[in-house]
Amino acid sequence: MKLSKQFDRVGMAAAGRDLYQFAAELYPICRSITGHGIRQTLRMIQQHIPLKIFEVASGTSVFDWTVPKEWNIKDAYIKDRSGRRVVDFQKSNLHVLNYSVPIHATMPLGELRPHLFSIPEHPDWIPYRTSYYKEEWGFCLSHSQLVALPDGDYEVSIDSTLADGSLSYGECFFAGQSSDEILISCHVCHPSLANDNLSGLTVATALAKLLAELTSDLRYSYRFLFIPGTIGAITWLARNQDARTRIRHGLVLTCLGDPAPFHYKKSRRGDAEIDRAAAHVLSHLSERAEVLDFSPYGYDERQYCSPGFNLGVGCLMRSVWGSFPEYHTSADNMSFIEPKCLAESLRACVMVLDVLENDRRYRNLLPFCEPQLGRRGLYRSTGGDSIADEVNARLWVLNFSDGENSLLDIAERSRLSFAMIFEAAQLLRENGLLELVLGANDGEEVAAKGVHRSTASDF
Ligand SMILES: [Zn+2]
Repeated sequence: MKLSKQFDRVGMAAAGRDLYQFAAELYPICRSITGHGIRQTLRMIQQHIPLKIFEVASGTSVFDWTVPKEWNIKDAYIKDRSGRRVVDFQKSNLHVLNYSVPIHATMPLGELRPHLFSIPEHPDWIPYRTSYYKEEWGFCLSHSQLVALPDGDYEVSIDSTLADGSLSYGECFFAGQSSDEILISCHVCHPSLANDNLSGLTVATALAKLLAELTSDLRYSYRFLFIPGTIGAITWLARNQDARTRIRHGLVLTCLGDPAPFHYKKSRRGDAEIDRAAAHVLSHLSERAEVLDFSPYGYDERQYCSPGFNLGVGCLMRSVWGSFPEYHTSADNMSFIEPKCLAESLRACVMVLDVLENDRRYRNLLPFCEPQLGRRGLYRSTGGDSIADEVNARLWVLNFSDGENSLLDIAERSRLSFAMIFEAAQLLRENGLLELVLGANDGEEVAAKGVHRSTASDF
């Protein structure tokens, strides 16, 4: 399968090293749902893939929401009476409540205290907090730091701006043979957080880079979105409402760098082809992988799967958002993610896309009793230890290729991997035992080959 081959050319070690390095470059940037940080991040992604950056003005109505004012920050601190910075934005961008309005004042600890956030259960970690839609200011600090603050006056400064500007997002499109699209979406709005944010966007960038080398060979068109969470997806959908007629499958990528087992959250439909493809791939990758039902909470699958769109978009993760203690804290840092885990996640995405790209229906050209495989040299393996599985896969493909069952149907039913079923189908086709069945789902690819495209009205 083409994408897996492309990944193998790079190799796990090199892929992991590149993914981790890119995450490390992006890590220090203070991102938010708008502003210079997200723009800088998009420009850095642009150095790897052909990304188009869009700006949507503050105040623009997007469904029931409004694009917020743009937030930027230069510096922030809390100084004690001696002038020492006891909380310093320059040391960690998590120290400031993201989207804090500007302030410069001196106040006693009692007055400052309601604006300070910490995590008593993890006294050395800094929490990540935001206040996008309520004008507020605040600081986040470790609990041990908080309890050590003596009474007295403190100088508080947040040198930020919240003003009319724009919301930025990036889009990268590759045209395949069909205008039917696969959507890959990730959020790019968190500051220095590695697993929740950088892992998804680095894997998405690497995936786009692999696809870029194959575009003319791709069955589907691909659209990658690098957007601020929630408001970014809502803004994109509001500006691309016709997308629902083009997007056939999609994945939200997030939390893909830690060593936890894979988790796939199904689309709202629950039985979309992406749900089956992801579940199949994960079941063959690891016994510990889990498939979760859809719920209307989580990442941007919430918007793609809102009832008006109801797209076949699921969410691929390792650790599930909100379920790991490091989530939204300073402990979700570059030590929490690993090159190998990032590379395995990229490979899992590649395998899911390979299923979608190659899930076809075939017809057995000799359906009356089994064809004599031995005479054709097909009743033995081409090598390796999996003789039984290889031959078995051929028998499964021959038996179920009746024009109705797709290769994924056969892989699920046989419990053999899609890759093995696909190889068997290729071999049987080369030996004149199978023919490809073109259907309505083959879209423009079929039209391009001069075959009449079936539409619903044909039936
Ligand atoms: Zn988050």
